[in-house]
Amino acid sequence: MYVANKRRSVREAGMRDVHRSLPQGATQKQVAACIDELAADPHISGILLQLPLPGQLDAASLIDRIPVGKDVDGLTTASAGLLARGEYGLRPCTPSGVIELLNSAGVPTKGAHAVVVGRSQLVGRPMAQLLLLRDATTTLAHRHTTDLTAVTRTADILVVATGICGLIGPEHVKPGATVIDVGIHRTPTGLTGDVRAGELNSIASLITPVPGGVGPMTIAMLMANTLQAARWTHHPAHPH
Ligand code: ADP
Repeated sequence: MYVANKRRSVREAGMRDVHRSLPQGATQKQVAACIDELAADPHISGILLQLPLPGQLDAASLIDRIPVGKDVDGLTTASAGLLARGEYGLRPCTPSGVIELLNSAGVPTKGAHAVVVGRSQLVGRPMAQLLLLRDATTTLAHRHTTDLTAVTRTADILVVATGICGLIGPEHVKPGATVIDVGIHRTPTGLTGDVRAGELNSIASLITPVPGGVGPMTIAMLMANTLQAARWTHHPAHPH
């Protein structure tokens, strides 16, 4: 679903869609060669490696073959380092989409208590770092957090990315909080998130829907990153 949506968005944005589909049994060497070829091609502004990969492949070392200037998913070690230091770079799309949602809804981050549930490389960790860069007091909760409810109940902004359907309910949410649901699950009754949104109507002041909330923003940020990458390639001294 995501790949098809990304490819359509690329074309709609007037960018060239270069899709390389490798066989399920592709070797590390074959995938590496494909990335290296795109990395060397001056006509290619952005590269992303669609995850998850089949078990025989080591994703981290393949991702790190993507040059930092073309890393439109923001997942290389180099991009993660730039983010951790608060320096200019391409940011992971889902967390930067969440920041855009907060901005567009006028939710202040400065001084707010932001709690992120989930510490994945893809979402939770970069999310916490972006919120920190926006001057939020940031707490990162995860599967070993002792009393998750007590932690989330203090959040002004609650971002949930655990991959656990319906984990967060009314008992976890402070009245008036802004709740961002990054989860997406296919259930017999349709798509739903990590948050039981229907139970939060009278508690949260704002809540993102699933589907239609964070997902489309992720793709929009991928387009923005690709444009940013193209500019960065052409004007490396003046990235802004
Ligand atoms: P995603 O790709 O959505 O970020 P991952 O499976 O990579 O998902 O990561 C899931 C994250 O959710 C992990 O950081 C894990 O610690 C966290 N998590 C899983 N279960 C719980 C839980 N019951 N309470 C809090 N955090 C949880």
